[in-house]
Amino acid sequence: MPARVLIIEDNVENSHLMAYLLKAWGHTVISAQTGHEGMTMSHSVAPDLILCDILLPDCDGHQLVKELKEHGFLRDPPVVAVTALAMVGDREKALRAGFDGYIPKPINPEKFIGQVEDFLHPRLRGRRQEQIEGSQGL
Ligand code: MN
Repeated sequence: MPARVLIIEDNVENSHLMAYLLKAWGHTVISAQTGHEGMTMSHSVAPDLILCDILLPDCDGHQLVKELKEHGFLRDPPVVAVTALAMVGDREKALRAGFDGYIPKPINPEKFIGQVEDFLHPRLRGRRQEQIEGSQGL
């Protein structure tokens, strides 16, 4: 059974790339472009995993992850930072803020699914959907 993944990312190209790769492996994707939208959707869609940018138009991901974690989900989904903040110390700062993990940008299409699925229960891992048009060669 694939996972339901909430992407909170304001950069449309990055958001589309992540969604494309996740869907190619059978996962369901819900996309938010602001922290506020992401917060709202995290309640309405009960995601299995949240991928969260740090530099968002309306908030800082370090603050957002705290709010996501404090808001008392029925299930407590992992929240993984996906960020171009890749200086020394940025990873530690993200983990200290409450993120369960950290995936650096730029997204590597060959590694991305493996990086994401490290945070999913084995029963939620996806399978390559060969019938998706254009997925060959990724
Ligand atoms: Mn951003």
